[in-house]
Amino acid sequence: MLADTVRDLTQMLGDQALITDPDDQAPFLHEWRDRYVGKAAAVVQPRTVDEVCRVLRFANDNGVPVVPQGGNTGLVGGQTPDQSGNAILLSLARLNRVREVDTVGGVITVDAGVVLQTLQDEADKADRLFPLSLGAEGSCMIGGNLSTNAGGTGVLAYGNTRDLVLGLEVALPDGRLWNGLSKLRKDNTGYDLKHLFIGAEGTLGVITGASLKLFPKPKGMRTAMIGITSPHEALKLFSLMQEVAGPALTAFEIMPRIAIDFLTRNMDGVRDPLEGEHAWYVLAEISSGRGEGDAEALLMQSMETSFEDGLVEDAVIAQSLDQANMFWAMRHGLSEAQKPEGGSIKHDVSVPVAAVADFLDEAIAAVVEMVPGCRPVPFGHLGDGNIHFNVSQPEGADRAAFLANYETMNERVHAITTRYGGSISAEHGIGQAKRDLLPGVKDAVALALMRTLKDAIDPKGIMNPGKVLADSR
Ligand code: FAD
Ligand code: ZN
Repeated sequence: MLADTVRDLTQMLGDQALITDPDDQAPFLHEWRDRYVGKAAAVVQPRTVDEVCRVLRFANDNGVPVVPQGGNTGLVGGQTPDQSGNAILLSLARLNRVREVDTVGGVITVDAGVVLQTLQDEADKADRLFPLSLGAEGSCMIGGNLSTNAGGTGVLAYGNTRDLVLGLEVALPDGRLWNGLSKLRKDNTGYDLKHLFIGAEGTLGVITGASLKLFPKPKGMRTAMIGITSPHEALKLFSLMQEVAGPALTAFEIMPRIAIDFLTRNMDGVRDPLEGEHAWYVLAEISSGRGEGDAEALLMQSMETSFEDGLVEDAVIAQSLDQANMFWAMRHGLSEAQKPEGGSIKHDVSVPVAAVADFLDEAIAAVVEMVPGCRPVPFGHLGDGNIHFNVSQPEGADRAAFLANYETMNERVHAITTRYGGSISAEHGIGQAKRDLLPGVKDAVALALMRTLKDAIDPKGIMNPGKVLADSR
């Protein structure tokens, strides 16, 4: 059966399109932390949209599970097949053309396998901005970003990936192609189908192309690293900066002191950004459509008022692009910088913005009580209420013994999150990691509707089985 699959697909696409050697398959079957490892009958790398459709039709006719993969940077195991070896892993990496850049309409149309950074660069070359930005941008692909509805650091100003989409092209499980590519800013002609596939984590079809919004490039940007005493002050500072800068406040990220310690210890070239030590740090960015002077003035005004109000202990405004990039490299490097500190129990949660500080107080107290000596490193997108509530093991503790607390700690933190009306997956999705937690937190009617949609669009259940929803077969 597996041999037949490989033979038939090789006949269809040529042997260059298939990887069957286990060593060559390995990079596709391990995710970067090695938390999920899978097996596949073949890694299949179509070069055209038509080939994607033909592969799906074949899989549907023969009951072969299909696991779509972009850059393999997902954090919930959605892109990793199970251990059975029955599935094919459908890599979009070779579908990587930029199809069109329309500067007048502000639309870029691309294949799903275009790497996010390439997309940003293409926009930049056309003197436009594609604002999606995240730590994995050098490897993740737009099809993956769409399928996970990725968030990142630009959400405050530009929204999640979902908000950047005008149209999609999707290969359906039965091999039909839905051409929903569109440049329209307004189109009220019935159900907005693109939103079904955005965030579906490959469980409904394969995204092959997208038309995406471009924005004017800011003419001036200023970035500041700000020392404060607690997340409560950070929330006040956030309101104040929004009042002063309005939509020009394009990022507002928070990290605790221990994150700076990890960064200076574990990441090359990082220095303590401020002279003294502060309990918490805010990384704020202002982008002005007018110019550098305007960005500087807005940031200065925010800082002066917040010093007067006693909200801020110390602040440094990046004096060069290099320094601003260094602040961002620190923010994006936090997950990496945590690695040498041993085991880390992670949560990707969101709560209403006004509740972030109270949530942090409560969740930090809870995990410290649970595992005395553990080192909470909650950081993230305070401006949109999304905190990566990571907890590093106590110094010198046994890694495995600490990680044995994973599920109970998750339960505890998720219970606090839901009490604040929050979400247990703010931006990374459900995949296999949180699949069995979903029924406990999701509205039962919503869950039933999801199942109805899944069964209607993918009646044979070939698309990424066992991800998001339990496999009903
Ligand atoms: P993959 O990992 O390959 O796949 C992710 C999911 O999408 C899988 O379920 C897969 O089956 C499905 N899929 C992929 N391509 C397609 C397609 N064409 N059609 C249908 N389904 C498809 N995420 C954030 O939201 N915000 C962050 O700030 C962020 N920071 C990160 C930082 C680091 C260092 C790392 C490693 C990850 C980070 N992530 C973040 C998670 C990850 O980068 C995102 O989820 C990203 O959108 C995944 O893109 P990918 O191309 O790697 O997708
Ligand atoms: Zn994030």
